[in-house]
Amino acid sequence: MKIQMVDLKGQYDKIREAVNTEIQNCLDNTAFINGPAVSEFQKSFENYLDIKHVIPCANGTDALQIAMMALDLKAGDEVICPAFTYVATAEVIGLLGLKPIMVDVDPDIFNIQLDGLDKYITPNTKAIVPVHLYGQAAEMEKIMEFAKKHNLFVIEDNAQAMGSDFTFTDGTTKKTGTIGHIGCTSFFPSKNLGCYGDGGAIMTNDDALAAKIRMIANHGQEKKYYHKVLGCNSRLDTVQAAVLKVKLEHLDEYSAARNKMASYYDAGLADIKALEIPKRASNSTHVFHQYTLKVKNGKRDELQKYLSEKNIPTMIYYPLPLYKQEAFQQYVSEGFSLPVTEMLCDEVISLPVHTEFNEEISDFIISEIKNFFKL
Ligand SMILES: *Cc1c(COP(=O)(O)O)cnc(C)c1O
Repeated sequence: MKIQMVDLKGQYDKIREAVNTEIQNCLDNTAFINGPAVSEFQKSFENYLDIKHVIPCANGTDALQIAMMALDLKAGDEVICPAFTYVATAEVIGLLGLKPIMVDVDPDIFNIQLDGLDKYITPNTKAIVPVHLYGQAAEMEKIMEFAKKHNLFVIEDNAQAMGSDFTFTDGTTKKTGTIGHIGCTSFFPSKNLGCYGDGGAIMTNDDALAAKIRMIANHGQEKKYYHKVLGCNSRLDTVQAAVLKVKLEHLDEYSAARNKMASYYDAGLADIKALEIPKRASNSTHVFHQYTLKVKNGKRDELQKYLSEKNIPTMIYYPLPLYKQEAFQQYVSEGFSLPVTEMLCDEVISLPVHTEFNEEISDFIISEIKNFFKL
């Protein structure tokens, strides 16, 4: 049996009929661009998230870029983002001529660190992009307070935590991606709500922002062939929307399955001194986009090599801080370094986690990790 990071085939086998029917409907309709499935999915997704506007688009990176374009920022404006994230978060900031201000993250929850963030504020700071990394919400209540205090826009990068709930101190909960001024997500196949190609969406409760985002995603036009602003061409493919309609109905069940697999690993690995199993945030549910361990004895790379020889795939999300990437050198001074980000890039390793829990495979992975640590 081949072990995979994500078992998309096993998942598809269980929803095959529903997915095939939806895709066949698209083919029968031949409405390939903005076909009925797109608005149907959009409505269901708005309901699921309890948000006024979902604007589907072509991928998660476009979602972030379009969100940022809608804020009317000017060249040189500064946008705060974590240094420990996927490149897309900071890439779009730079592409728009803005300056990414890369900051450190919490060593346990892996999300943006609020302590000491004030020192990054300048007259040019205009926005902050919290990333809900690996499936848990960033400190959204504190982030919204911080943003209010400094008059910043908040764009949530929710590509990894779709379905997660954040709980405020008054006990109310909101879905990640619906708390900031704008939320962005990706439907890349391996994401928690993934389609069978590329896809993305932008979420907001603000009517004016929604109209603007919709316009930018559609070549800057509200009326066909009349272009108000420079936009882009970013649509969710109809066939992908059809797949998402089916998969959205299973999202909560998928999150539960991922949690089951995570707890199984926890129980099997908790006794290994050199490992730290994933900590749970007190104010967020976890949807385990990744199950990420910290290897505390400097043997992370050796562990990865050992597991790979046993045909157990693992991933390092992420091996190099953004500020050490060649593409980002223009934004940092020489020797710039963030201690937690540095540490995590050396210690983290993600195990296979997905919706198709298999006890035999999980036992094998756990036992090989124990073998490596000679337990
Ligand atoms: C996947 C991902 C994106 C980008 O999504 P694409 O659909 O691949 O463009 C952005 N941010 C984070 C944190 C991601 O994990």
